[in-house]
Amino acid sequence: MLEQHDLEGKGLRTGDLEAGRWLFAQPCDFLRGSTSTENLPPAGGPEICFAGRSNVGKSSLVNALTGRNTLARTSNTPGRTQELNFFTLGPKGYPALTLVDLPGYGYARETRSRVEAWTKLVMAYLRGRVELQRVLVLIDSRHGLKDSDHDVMKIMDETAVSFQVVLTKIDKLKASELAPRLEEVRAGVRRHVAAHPTVIATSSAKGDGIAELRAEIALLADPAAFSYKS
Ligand code: GDP
Repeated sequence: MLEQHDLEGKGLRTGDLEAGRWLFAQPCDFLRGSTSTENLPPAGGPEICFAGRSNVGKSSLVNALTGRNTLARTSNTPGRTQELNFFTLGPKGYPALTLVDLPGYGYARETRSRVEAWTKLVMAYLRGRVELQRVLVLIDSRHGLKDSDHDVMKIMDETAVSFQVVLTKIDKLKASELAPRLEEVRAGVRRHVAAHPTVIATSSAKGDGIAELRAEIALLADPAAFSYKS
């Protein structure tokens, strides 16, 4: 159970945790898969998006947040069409937030043209989406920041889209390894102007950090949706 003093360092309050819990208990529905900026869903309310290297644990994290297998499992095999997947989250008929799943990057055998296609698609999306509140950049806690992560963060810097790092799979680290890894990642992230200073450490397998991440995300949702909360 998280106490108030645990939350303060993270800029959260107990009420935020409750808002996060409520929001992620609401329906989460697949809206659309978009392969180009021509077929993006029309602008709705606030939006957040999830980005990360292939295998970082993105599907597992979104499933842990929503408590169900929401995410379409998209393959990262070369040659597959890269898609942005849009989901709505919120009370029926009143979406509080759109969740967007970006295709994974940094696949070991990625071809140059595929990296270029990813960059073109993602840049066009980031540039055109005023309702985008934040990109959550997932980093595998065992590996830390890689060059491909910095490349993606540079895109956020250039497009002036705020991003926040979420460490995944912290259950795979020894307890003594987490604090230095967090410090190293915070230092790496500080090189980017678009970075949110707080790094959230999570484990989808064990549930660590999931309540805090839900709370952080709920702060970005449409506040009007919370009037449906009984
Ligand atoms: P994606 O490609 O980024 O969507 O990654 P997945 O969610 O498919 O996860 C990749 C692999 O990491 C799978 O084998 C997952 O079971 C594993 N994984 C994901 N999250 C965790 C976690 O929190 N802890 C552990 N131990 N394994 C995880």
